[in-house]
Amino acid sequence: MSRRLVVLGGGGFLGSHLCDHLLARGDEVVCVDDFSTGRRANVAHLRQDPRFTLVEADISESLPVEGPVSGVFNLASPASPPDYLARPLQTLAVGSEGTRRGLALARDHRARFLLASTSEVYGDPDVHPQPESYWGNVNSVGPRSVYDEAKRFAEALTMAHHRTLGTDVAIVRIFNTYGPRLRPDDGRVVSNFLLQAMKGEPLTVYGDGSQTRSLCYVDDEVRGLVALFDSDLTGPVNLGNPDEYTVLQLASTVVDLLGSSSPIIHLPLPVDDPTRRRPDISLARSALGWEPTTHLRDGLALTAAFLAEEARATAEDLAAVDGARSGNNGSE
Ligand code: UDP
Repeated sequence: MSRRLVVLGGGGFLGSHLCDHLLARGDEVVCVDDFSTGRRANVAHLRQDPRFTLVEADISESLPVEGPVSGVFNLASPASPPDYLARPLQTLAVGSEGTRRGLALARDHRARFLLASTSEVYGDPDVHPQPESYWGNVNSVGPRSVYDEAKRFAEALTMAHHRTLGTDVAIVRIFNTYGPRLRPDDGRVVSNFLLQAMKGEPLTVYGDGSQTRSLCYVDDEVRGLVALFDSDLTGPVNLGNPDEYTVLQLASTVVDLLGSSSPIIHLPLPVDDPTRRRPDISLARSALGWEPTTHLRDGLALTAAFLAEEARATAEDLAAVDGARSGNNGSE
């Protein structure tokens, strides 16, 4: 019998890929999103599928899911720094109230709950690479704390539910993930650099570019999320690609891959930007048999193709609007 799985934040970048994956393997999916940072276009291709239900709701206010529930994935939150810095109170609310509602839904149905946590719980890490046992180095009063502390609180809430009520839970700490469906205006490094290189504009490196990130392609990440959900592990479990690059290395890889002539310019480093980040994925390897397989250049090429197609479709839409306008003017 197929399972009915609820994906909170299912209209987002990562959430919509998860919906695709679950439907493709035969599950039913209830996608819940308020489309504040997600996009309707991410799930438009699923609307005709009878096994797909879309519920438009802000889970920090309500979670109106009817019918059976066999599992809950909580991916609902702004995830890009510009997005969560623009929505500080909403980010704290969705991490706390939203997570509480997701846990209650899972508990009511005796269903498994997976929390999408983040490498940001490690803050600017003193330990490198970061194992799950590291407690982190987070500035609780800096601007990024709205995201970091919301996720840390969500982890605490998830574990308290598990310990006191016996709710079946799993926590994944997701490291930087990229791929198709990153919004062109998302503001994260991969979409920014690819779009800038495509347009021949300068690549905006924040700070001196010596800070590092480890970038995981979205299909690898989704495979890991599902493997963790299907296991009986509680975690937390790191899921990310341990291949680590400086931001400057990423910039030159993008320029080289796209044959772009874009120069690099330096802009101020965001407050509390972590200096380095790389997951220790020993636990995911041994307990889930999971590891990423997509090389950076391949993943970047797939993401670039998506962003180019988005730009083409947007240009066509604008041309159509212009055409309609000049048509209207002519008839007046
Ligand atoms: N970054 C950059 N230029 C950009 C966007 C981001 O140099 O146009 C840097 C950012 O300062 C950080 C890294 O790239 O060091 C990753 O940033 P992102 O916003 O993608 O994710 P984060 O890891 O900070 O959540």
